[in-house]
Amino acid sequence: MLHGLIERLRQKKRTAAYPGKPPVLPERFRGLPLIAEAACQTGSCGKACASACPTGAIQTHDNGLSLDLGLCIFCAACASACPHAAISFSREYRLAGTSREHLVIRAGRCGQAEDNPGDIPLLVPLDRKLRSMFSRSLKLREISAAGCNACEADCNALGNILFDVQRFGIDFVASPRHADALLITGPLPKNMRLAVQKCHAAAPNPKIIIAAGTCAISGGLFRNLSGQGKGVPELFKPDLYIPGCPPHPFTILDGLLRLLGRI
Ligand code: SF4
Repeated sequence: MLHGLIERLRQKKRTAAYPGKPPVLPERFRGLPLIAEAACQTGSCGKACASACPTGAIQTHDNGLSLDLGLCIFCAACASACPHAAISFSREYRLAGTSREHLVIRAGRCGQAEDNPGDIPLLVPLDRKLRSMFSRSLKLREISAAGCNACEADCNALGNILFDVQRFGIDFVASPRHADALLITGPLPKNMRLAVQKCHAAAPNPKIIIAAGTCAISGGLFRNLSGQGKGVPELFKPDLYIPGCPPHPFTILDGLLRLLGRI
């Protein structure tokens, strides 16, 4: 007993001070891509970034380019290919949004400037009634719809001592019948559709649908392969999109807490 207490004092508190303090991110973390409008010269570079992108996340326009976070796997091939260094990656981890349109970045802004005055994807919290139901207690049923286990592993990490998602009243449950929200990962191929639909039907209303990771948002790398799906939007409209390949646990946590109006 005494030994346990001494060890506890020696190790001190390991849980992140987030959201009271900004999260400590790993050195190699890649966050929100930045597009330097002045440096981008799509007319003279042969659209090297779009050619290098394995998922078709980049569209070029006469006056620059747009980058879809819902398709991006954060591989940084575009940044390496650009001869003018017009694309770089920030350490901004707040990537989640409530509309697909706002995941598209153009000249450093997410969505159209007039409908999103911020520089991260717009995330509209749940309405007052849903917040009163879920903001202090949200039970998630995770559905791995043929994910590669990266998104699933980072969802799993939310329960460890560093992120400790349970301190916010958020937890994962084993049955959709006990769930307030379905958190879906993976590209949702044809073979998984019936299972996901049954899971959706089993969850009580009102329920929140969360697409976590690039595959769940759009199918990602797999969206044009036979038998594969284009993510959750093919079946249900997500209430929350969390980009990333995989999304960092702080990105997931930030999305959940902002959706619940907790930060
Ligand atoms: S980082 Fe994203 S936009 Fe850039 S090449 Fe990779 S997938 Fe495409």
